[in-house]
Amino acid sequence: KVTVPQPPQTRFIAVANQKGGVGKTTTTVNLAAAFASLGSQVLVIDMDPQGNASTALGVPHESGVPSTYDVLEGRYGIEEVKVASPGFETLEVVPSSIDLSGAELEVAELPERNHLLKNALAKFLKGSKKHYDYIFIDCPPSLGLLVLNAMCSVNEVLIPVQAEYYALEGLQQLLHTIGLVQQSYNPYLVISTMLLTMYDKRTLLSKEVFDEVREHYPEIVLNTTIPRSVKISEAPSFQQSVITYDPRGAGAISYEEAALEIASRSEQVLERITKRKQGE
Ligand code: ADP
Ligand code: MG
Repeated sequence: KVTVPQPPQTRFIAVANQKGGVGKTTTTVNLAAAFASLGSQVLVIDMDPQGNASTALGVPHESGVPSTYDVLEGRYGIEEVKVASPGFETLEVVPSSIDLSGAELEVAELPERNHLLKNALAKFLKGSKKHYDYIFIDCPPSLGLLVLNAMCSVNEVLIPVQAEYYALEGLQQLLHTIGLVQQSYNPYLVISTMLLTMYDKRTLLSKEVFDEVREHYPEIVLNTTIPRSVKISEAPSFQQSVITYDPRGAGAISYEEAALEIASRSEQVLERITKRKQGE
């Protein structure tokens, strides 16, 4: 059985892009599933009121289910709301429900409003007997309070980039926002990873986008790309990741390769984070 080398310390990764439909949730779910199937201990925090990551990981997320919403508002700790993803031994999920859409307004006046998730996560990890190798946060397609909470809770951002013509334009704005977050809220944040999604080998456009992203961000973009695949898009309707739904298909294999590549960069990424901490 193939396993992945575990990082020397927990990697906290927010999967973010203010554009909708670029593959954030698909990437969060399938990378998390890939890492878990390769032996990592993984926690996924669903920060999107749509709850699509919760769906794909097979965990209940109707309105009223204890969720990220309750964690942010302090009614429950992460320990109390996290649930195991069926079919995995080392994959847990903090589900989100539509209730989360109310949080933005409800906590708007709290002085700690941008650090609610960070504080909850710190408390949880302090009391947890388990060691997590990877903690992924699936962000909604916006740059509001929920995304800010996610970016204050992590030290890495993973940006899925859809292989299409306007990809680069949106990226500029996202990078600008991450720059503001670094200045004002979380100086230790690095953009660790970019991953090309819905890549079509047959089109020149896909290759052009990949080449351009690689030219601008050579150290960040993964060599692995995720192909456009019907199995990947079908899996959530069976409450599954593509890793369990179609384990031998191109989609599962590409996410496993992405996971291995991300793991192989652990030292390099943690070094970049340490440097930021030392103010270099
Ligand atoms: P986001 O979370 O950024 O809004 P999603 O991950 O929900 O984006 O993806 C948007 C849509 O594209 C979904 O219907 C998803 O199933 C589909 N999709 C994502 N990645 C792929 C892929 N590699 N191949 C085919 N469909 C994909
Ligand atoms: Mg999503």
